Amino acid sequence: MAEQAGAERRGDFESSRGFPDELEADGEIEAARWYRETLAGLPDPVRTIEDHYEALKDSVVEAVVRVGHDPERVRSVVLVPQSRATVSASAESYPDGSALVLISNAVLGLAEVYGQHLARAVMKPNLRTFLKKGARFLRTGRVEFDTELLTAVLRHNSRVQRSFNLAQTFMIGMEPVQLRLAELLSRHAMRFVIAHEVAHHVLGHAGRSHLAPVDGVASCTGEQQAELEADRLAYQVVLAAQQHDGVGLPSQVPLGALVAIAVLHYAESSLFLRTGVSHPPVDRRLGVLWQEVPFHVRPTFNSYALPLFEATDRAADFVQGSRPDVDWALLRTRPEVQHHPFSLMAHDVFVRCDELQALAPDQLAEQLGPWPALHEGAEALLDGRPGDAARLWELSPTWFDTWKTQAPLAAYTVRGRLQRVPALQDLTPLLRCPVAEAMAGLVEHTIIRS
Ligand SMILES: [Zn+2]
Repeated sequence: MAEQAGAERRGDFESSRGFPDELEADGEIEAARWYRETLAGLPDPVRTIEDHYEALKDSVVEAVVRVGHDPERVRSVVLVPQSRATVSASAESYPDGSALVLISNAVLGLAEVYGQHLARAVMKPNLRTFLKKGARFLRTGRVEFDTELLTAVLRHNSRVQRSFNLAQTFMIGMEPVQLRLAELLSRHAMRFVIAHEVAHHVLGHAGRSHLAPVDGVASCTGEQQAELEADRLAYQVVLAAQQHDGVGLPSQVPLGALVAIAVLHYAESSLFLRTGVSHPPVDRRLGVLWQEVPFHVRPTFNSYALPLFEATDRAADFVQGSRPDVDWALLRTRPEVQHHPFSLMAHDVFVRCDELQALAPDQLAEQLGPWPALHEGAEALLDGRPGDAARLWELSPTWFDTWKTQAPLAAYTVRGRLQRVPALQDLTPLLRCPVAEAMAGLVEHTIIRS
């Protein structure tokens, strides 16, 4: 399993080597040059990610023992990062006492995004601004948080993930002191996610999960009490790991846990059309966490939770027919957003996809006008004739039935398949993307949510 996932990641990386040639053929010279230079500068990204996860897992396993659990129980916990987002995080226990924990790269990418934005809000580059900020907080009870920018960055992140299944993000320029805190917060958050999964194994929950990893478990047990117990243990484990490292302050651990809950909530609500499990509502999870948070940290915890979840909820609205409340222009205009040509090139495509979300089903069908067979298929979908639609779109007759029942169902599963319909193969991947998005919107309206 671990080897297979490693090979998949290596395959993804190797196939990305051909991407600059495709860009050049499309006349995107500057983007192709940037991409080549970046690839040349990477030591071995697959190995780097694996080492990173392994170190995180080891620190979690040691801390689980430190808070009093049986070392034998965690001796053979295997962590496998997933490049394909059919899973956010999951654990499976086996009769021999071993456990398999799966975490998607999307989760890692999101932990970095939230960590950065929270660190920028928490830590000011100099004492003067720090004191001013503190005085304002005491006076108004409100923290400074760039909700608009986080919303836009999250939205970009999930658009890339939904259309291309890639964890790609806009980095934010920061002062060294903020950067260190950002790294620390995302490390706490990743430890929390891993510890939550290991907790299911240690507490004997994971064996109850009836879904096997090969079926693509979205996350966890689906039993609310078990989820809350796992959160509680995860928090204690992250705290123990921090105390052992001695890096940063114990009061930063609650913020890392906050990031973790936001990441899992966001991944599941924005990347999946159906998750297959019911997690406790975010407020209940935060409530459990809040009881663990020391008294003097609670006001800070509360005041950052509010804007963090406001951005999360706004960015996660992917309901067809609603207009997204996201200011995409910020990604171009804010000086602290670090650009590269590929992300800017894709930017317009994703703005276009967001515009499509506001359209009614018949308007989506109109978008397919330039491709007569696709348009006719769309009309068939609207008339309740999915069999005809599958034929016209050259999909296997059973595809729509699969999507009707599959749980979990990642948004990318549907889009990735629609991007491969023969009628669109003359277009470049970026141009294909909004067309597939219009088709996916129709499929969601007529098949998946009907
Ligand atoms: Zn869980």
